[in-house]
Amino acid sequence: MLRVDAHTRICGIIGDPVEHSLSPVMHNAAFHARGINYVYVAFRVPAPLLGAAVAAIRNLNLVGVNVTIPHKETVAAHLDEVSEEARLMGAVNTVVRRGDRLIGHNTDGEGFLRALRAAGFDPAHRSVLLLGAGGAARAVAVALARAGAASISVANRTPARAERLARWLAEGLGAAARAVPWPGENGAPAGRQALAGADLVVHATPLGTFPDAQAGPDLAYECLRPGQVAFDLVYNPAETAFLARARAAGARTVSGLEMLVHQGSLAFELWTDQSPPLDTMRAALREALL
Ligand code: NAP
Repeated sequence: MLRVDAHTRICGIIGDPVEHSLSPVMHNAAFHARGINYVYVAFRVPAPLLGAAVAAIRNLNLVGVNVTIPHKETVAAHLDEVSEEARLMGAVNTVVRRGDRLIGHNTDGEGFLRALRAAGFDPAHRSVLLLGAGGAARAVAVALARAGAASISVANRTPARAERLARWLAEGLGAAARAVPWPGENGAPAGRQALAGADLVVHATPLGTFPDAQAGPDLAYECLRPGQVAFDLVYNPAETAFLARARAAGARTVSGLEMLVHQGSLAFELWTDQSPPLDTMRAALREALL
């Protein structure tokens, strides 16, 4: 049973909207499992109130917060320090208090890598096709480049954005990155070749998210094959149309739910200095998604 007393400390998530967030369920289950006297709540913070919300983290002695849309790119300006990863990813998703200082981190990239490695895939020296060029794609691309991926091809609905991300990865991180056409069913051969040739295919758009779960990305699924790994960042549903079709083609699959668990577990470590109860966090998420 939840016990709140005069020693209870507060963590939370700031965003707008925030009512859909699964993080309160996941983190409260984790604190309970470890007997930690913290409670995690969702704070809806409209953009103009971001500075005041960060001041409240300081003034009310919160442990820290997760940060979601629309504050991930703007919160850094209100913090004392930002990790190297968060700076490269251009976004902060976790804030932790260290003494009087508020430090911004981004656990999405490392959470992605942990989920990938837990599935038995090490991206070092492997080729990657990234479908999408938004904030999550950038976090994943930075993590993959730093983990030694041999090459990163980026395909996106808006090609100019894929080109911009690939150029930045090449110039900023020295990665072997390039933009490729979207590998749709009737797509250009270069896109289909990138899909067929990748060791790892990462889907980083919202396509296939509940309630549009049938509307996965348009891809030349027949190019997929055994030996490849398909990773969907979408976590609701845990088993997406993209993953089902990739598995049917023989690829191994990793759900965005695993990334959600691992990015949350990294925040848990930052706030508590304890090992995260991964099974409890995963079970809490699965139950919330039923
Ligand atoms: P974002 O910055 O808004 O980027 C969205 C990306 O999806 C862009 O590349 C966009 O292409 C593309 N896109 C959007 N609608 C599309 C459509 N109808 N057809 C084709 N492409 C479309 O969003 P984000 O923050 O990167 O998030 C992307 C997904 O990752 C979301 O579903 C989010 O929930 C998920 N995510 C999961 C985790 C996790 O822990 N599992 C963590 C972070 C994010 P354009 O450039 O052409 O607009």
